[in-house]
Amino acid sequence: MRCLIFISVLLLVGVCQAVERDYQLKPQQVAEDTYVLIGHDEHFSFSNGGNIVNTGFIVTEAGVVVIDSGPSRLYGEQLKAAIARVTDKPVVKLFITHMHPDHFLGNQAFEDLPIGALKKTQGGIRLLGETFNDNLYRLVGSWMKGTRVVAPNLQVEPGLEEIGGHRLQLIALKGHTGADLVILDQTSGVLFAGDLVFYGRTPTTPHARLDEWQAALQQLQKLDFKVLVPGHGPPVTSEVAISQTSAYLNWLQTYLTEQAGSGAAMAELLQPEAPQHLRELAVFSEEYTRSLSHLYPALEAAALAEGKVEQQQ
Ligand SMILES: [Zn+2]
Repeated sequence: MRCLIFISVLLLVGVCQAVERDYQLKPQQVAEDTYVLIGHDEHFSFSNGGNIVNTGFIVTEAGVVVIDSGPSRLYGEQLKAAIARVTDKPVVKLFITHMHPDHFLGNQAFEDLPIGALKKTQGGIRLLGETFNDNLYRLVGSWMKGTRVVAPNLQVEPGLEEIGGHRLQLIALKGHTGADLVILDQTSGVLFAGDLVFYGRTPTTPHARLDEWQAALQQLQKLDFKVLVPGHGPPVTSEVAISQTSAYLNWLQTYLTEQAGSGAAMAELLQPEAPQHLRELAVFSEEYTRSLSHLYPALEAAALAEGKVEQQQ
């Protein structure tokens, strides 16, 4: 009898292990010592398990530096395993580019390490992390099993940091969120741009300030890089991803501001007039609709306020 129970337990464990989900993470080398794991150009869904994001790592002489930890505990653990297939060096540090859940919910796999982020990113994750976690669980289900929020434990200051022969320039910008960390590896020329840059995929704007974002993109244009790793979309060797992000944001702001000025109701704008090259970006329709709901009420209020000012004059 005991033997039967033992065998049943073994079978059960076997079944549980068999259904452990697999993100199929495959590091792609983009420069010497430098690898990127490229997510799907999609929305969060059960089929992609929330893997819509790019993460990356640099194999330095002092150990591995990871940039962003992905959308779940499971992703973080599988990222760690993917790194171990490339190098036997230990991970020594993780940087989180900004507070969005697809970029930091894998932190659990690295929680005994320094996890660096800008101060506002630390605060944002402490404040909103659990809400993001719950929301992602609703969207991707069991891929999130056992995921809990681990806030970054190290405040990053902008400046140069040398790690194992790699000279990292840590740059504090904002616009996609209130704090966007960009990392330029001056040794390899790889620029990890976080979600300030999307390539081939429509930018998201839930915490965006579009003027600040455009100013940040101008800063990025000035940097001397060989490869740019966007937060979403494939790595690229030119500045085309920066100008594409800028073009979309510029169109979005101009179009919505004009429509607000003419008194259009939000419901009238669900089928926008947009240039073909922007319509062709992945998930254009869904992201535009989300942006419309995030951004339009404030633009309507501003147009109304300006109208009142004119009436008073
Ligand atoms: Zn983001």
